[in-house]
Amino acid sequence: MASSMPLDQQVNQGQQSLTGDSFIRQHLRKLSPYQPILPFEVLSIKLGRKPEDIIKIDANENPYGPPPEASNMQHHTPFLIQALGQLKFPYIYPDPESRRLRDALSKDSGLESNHILVGCGADELIDLIMRCVLDPGDKIVDCPPTFTMYEFDAAVNGAHVIKVPRKSDFSLNVELIADAVEREKPKCIFLTSPNNPDGSIINEQDLFKILEMPILVVLDEAYIEFSGLESKMKWVKKHDNLIVLRTFSKRAGLAGLRVGYGAFPLSIIEYLWRAKQPYNVSVAAEVAACAALQNATYLENVKEMLIQERERLFKLLKEIPFLNPYPSYSNFILCEVTSGKNAKKLKEDLAKMGVMIRHYDKKEMKGYVRVSVGKPEHTNALMKCLKSLS
Ligand SMILES: *Cc1c(COP(=O)(O)O)cnc(C)c1O
Repeated sequence: MASSMPLDQQVNQGQQSLTGDSFIRQHLRKLSPYQPILPFEVLSIKLGRKPEDIIKIDANENPYGPPPEASNMQHHTPFLIQALGQLKFPYIYPDPESRRLRDALSKDSGLESNHILVGCGADELIDLIMRCVLDPGDKIVDCPPTFTMYEFDAAVNGAHVIKVPRKSDFSLNVELIADAVEREKPKCIFLTSPNNPDGSIINEQDLFKILEMPILVVLDEAYIEFSGLESKMKWVKKHDNLIVLRTFSKRAGLAGLRVGYGAFPLSIIEYLWRAKQPYNVSVAAEVAACAALQNATYLENVKEMLIQERERLFKLLKEIPFLNPYPSYSNFILCEVTSGKNAKKLKEDLAKMGVMIRHYDKKEMKGYVRVSVGKPEHTNALMKCLKSLS
């Protein structure tokens, strides 16, 4: 029987059972959405403040940004802006092997460039490693509280997460890790040193013990510059089960340009080359990262300023009666919120005053706040607000 209904409605009727989500992979339908941050402009409107009047110390960004001026330039064009303004071939796809940047990274790290791969942030590399290593149903070990992207990417990749919580001082529970490795046969473990959110480092004995286990160890050194310790990138030549990840986001103030890198054993890196998106690092990102590495003195000075400011911030936070700060090897300080004060309320009260910090209110971490180390004036503004809340 011919229907008088327009054709597009007839087609829709026939597909009634096929809603869009029925095309989505089963394990992704159960995934809870990632909690993204508000773009700075949106935050500015929400708080009713100009971006310059917001103290943003909630995401461990480097407030000094990339090198402002090349030391050998007479005029005052910002170095990075100039480098980005002079892109010769922005209309040509970038080098899929990021050769210039990998050579610069090799000089910077002392590790040969054939062990180094660059990504669209360290975040891309975490996902890429999982895509290369994990079959659906495989397991990873995660040691919370820590960076939450490991758990998130594992879920996206259909892997199971075995959680081996850190001890109360945030050190690793190596015995329980060994048990989990033996019992569950996980493929890889993600370790963060310095750890986000507490800023503690993993001691070498623990790391050696874990490297002895039959498991791929991904050591995330996103904050290693602030620790005073040398990166373990070179260790990948001796350990066939070690990957070390780093980033320009915190070290060089390039979070918005998305450049991270990793050191890999040759037996592993070969497959990442095959699986990665060919043009994962943009022309702008590569130029920016190379420009940053050319200005080693600037990077060193910024690092020193942040470390000094961390120590000053720590002492000042200690004087606040409702905060118990943890010593940190990174560019942020975790504080326990004490004296019956509520961490979420504290975060909200500070936001109203234009100071953004991070709070933790989930079962693994309840009643804590994390403050990124900013410039001295950011510390001063934070302290003034905290005192008004005492
Ligand atoms: C910020 C952060 C990263 C992400 O680095 P990007 O290069 O910006 O993707 C990775 N690991 C940890 C622990 C971080 O805190």
